Amino acid sequence: MIYTNQNNLPESVVNAIGQPRKPVPERYSATDISNPPLQRYLKEKHWDELTQDVSDMIWMLFGNAMHYVLEKGSPDNAFAEEKLVMNYKGITLSGITDLWHNKVISDYKTTSVYSFLLGDKPEWTVQLNIYRMLYYVVLGMETDKLQIHAILRDWQKSKTFKDANYPKIAFHSVDIPIIDPTPHIDYWLDDIKNPHPCTAEERWERETTWAVMKGTNKTATKVCKTEAEANLYVETFGQNYKVVKRQGEAIRCKTYCVVSQFCEHNPYRELEAA
Ligand code: SF4
Repeated sequence: MIYTNQNNLPESVVNAIGQPRKPVPERYSATDISNPPLQRYLKEKHWDELTQDVSDMIWMLFGNAMHYVLEKGSPDNAFAEEKLVMNYKGITLSGITDLWHNKVISDYKTTSVYSFLLGDKPEWTVQLNIYRMLYYVVLGMETDKLQIHAILRDWQKSKTFKDANYPKIAFHSVDIPIIDPTPHIDYWLDDIKNPHPCTAEERWERETTWAVMKGTNKTATKVCKTEAEANLYVETFGQNYKVVKRQGEAIRCKTYCVVSQFCEHNPYRELEAA
């Protein structure tokens, strides 16, 4: 991977962010398997050509710092930042858990409020259940509960007064359901040989909608899935209303996918190349 520092960030910051390791064939982490197979496939295939600017990794610094500090605060009888490795059907499967304590696995995430409002992500369920399996297989330790502790990095107190659904504090814990992760692991290991295009869910796709807006209001009166439905509302409500299209987007492809420049399924690829 080619690292650039186009914004001249200080060396101390660049060093603290660190660099991701080159993927090794048939060695997969719980995080790899919780992400789309296509991402990992393209990462392995194009690793030496991938370009990443260190300024795009600033939030990793925040995440690294948070993990470092929270590890210091772990209870004495807890397992913190434990790296576990096992053989699974001929491949190497690994995971580093943030915390195991009293049969509870906890994972810390720094995430946006928007992401939090969308609810828990399926990849979190896969990731934490692989950790649970690793604890059992490698150390013989059982886990009764899985939790995500999220720090909401863009939380604003002022918004708590305006929106009843807005989180009240910048921290939130979510329980993750316990499942058997092996069907997903088997499917993923099979798929990565010839990966499917990422699904709408894997791309974190937000649908295009049509908002019915009153006058100069900034909040929509109605949000519709079709333009025709929105037009019907405007006809009913009267002339002071209008329809505004809210263009959908594939958020992961657009902002959060390191291999997007090599992905033929990236809807923004031509725009990025232009
Ligand atoms: S660019 Fe989008 S479709 Fe392609 S690998 Fe990344 S997330 Fe998947």
